[in-house]
Amino acid sequence: KSINWDAIITELAGMEVITNANQLEKLSLDYYHFSPILQPQLANKRGNLVVRPKQEEEVKRVVQTCVRHQIPLTVRGAGTGNYGQCIPLEGGIILDTTSMNAIRWIRGDVACVEPGVKIIDLDREAKTQGWELRMYPSTYRSATIGGFIGGGSGGIGSITYGQLRDRGNVLAAKVMTMEDPPQRLELRGDDVQKVNHAYGTNGIITELEIALAPAYPWADTIVVFDEFMQAARFGQALSDADGLLKKLVCICADPIPSYFTPLKSHLPTGKHCALLMVAESSLEGLQDLIQEYGGEQTYCRTAQQPQKGLSLPEFTWNHTTLHARSIDPTLTYLQTFFFNLEIVEEMYRHFGDEVPMHLEFLRVGGKAIPAGLQLVRFTTEERLNEIIRYHEERGALIANPHTYILEDGGRKVINPLQLAFKEKVDPNGLMNPGKMRAWLERK
Ligand code: FAD
Repeated sequence: KSINWDAIITELAGMEVITNANQLEKLSLDYYHFSPILQPQLANKRGNLVVRPKQEEEVKRVVQTCVRHQIPLTVRGAGTGNYGQCIPLEGGIILDTTSMNAIRWIRGDVACVEPGVKIIDLDREAKTQGWELRMYPSTYRSATIGGFIGGGSGGIGSITYGQLRDRGNVLAAKVMTMEDPPQRLELRGDDVQKVNHAYGTNGIITELEIALAPAYPWADTIVVFDEFMQAARFGQALSDADGLLKKLVCICADPIPSYFTPLKSHLPTGKHCALLMVAESSLEGLQDLIQEYGGEQTYCRTAQQPQKGLSLPEFTWNHTTLHARSIDPTLTYLQTFFFNLEIVEEMYRHFGDEVPMHLEFLRVGGKAIPAGLQLVRFTTEERLNEIIRYHEERGALIANPHTYILEDGGRKVINPLQLAFKEKVDPNGLMNPGKMRAWLERK
């Protein structure tokens, strides 16, 4: 069906609307190119226009326009997702939330925000009151809080607080439905899971309540090891040490440290490294642990010391992949729950340099476990799938980052809660069409 875009622009008068081809290209894409599989599938996808509402009333007008003319709508935060979460498969309107960036209030350990607030801005504001975000992705400088909840899962802080999906981390979400007139719903408690990690397929999040953590003075530190498994065991021990406060436990096997050019002087050639954030009160205890595991501390910056250039967390989580790819663009990655170090060791020994090991420890169900964002020296899609299969057959769980389909990238099962919610709030299937398998295959 042909749409008269000039008429649509007239309908949206008074709002910031972007139609310039260069801008449209930029605002249609994300970091899908980390995947050589997604690259050809998504490179040419474009929205027809981008609209950047400033308040909820404007969002409502966009929704009404989309429903009236049956135009697909894709919500976008900062566009830092890795699997094309915010890439419009069927064109239409891109709703960019970055001008809806108010921090409404911080009361005790709860923050209420608009979705487009930058994660770093919220964290800074919370710190002025003695609080901080429980967890954030390594893209915290650019990513939005709404995009993190719509398309992310966890990150720096997950070693203590688990993932976004864990009860108590995201307290409430206000959601606008894709109807004319739209409804405003409030989801609280477990109901938040309806929109958490749903790729914006079932409602527009217009406000969020997030639980905060007490703020600590975090020290960034690097420890290096001769043996990879010794570094991994050290990571597990630090993660399990209840008296040592940490926000980040990242372990990288050689040659990954060689990709961290700005950290070169702290990373001796051939060694394996641990990139850590620990509370300053835990630095002494950390020394003892380092000694126990035969590591060597090569860098330590306390919270008071000025930070030059990138901060240490910007080499961890998927920033590890970013730095590696800037040196060797043929590298890609996997996302893996290993659950224990035995599987890590088996995979490390089996794949060697074809799958350079990168671990991030996080808390799952009350236990600290190693997760992997291993690099992969990509050759063919068949080989990539073989690597994935080999992991899965041995008990590791891969959240495949080489698909834009919601369920296939996660636990590969249909989420009935999210589907039922979509049927209610987006009856015409206009929101980010093509991403939710449950919707595509319903009935
Ligand atoms: P976008 O990419 O713009 O959107 C993400 C999804 O959320 C889309 O499906 C979009 O439609 C939906 N969405 C956005 N706003 C709304 C809304 N208001 N209502 C409904 N749906 C909405 N992720 C992690 O979880 N942890 C990491 O440590 C991490 N590290 C990364 C490192 C690099 C180098 C890169 C490139 C990515 C990384 N990511 C990580 C992925 C991504 O950066 C984060 O998930 C980030 O929080 C996404 O925020 P964004 O604002 O860029 O969202």
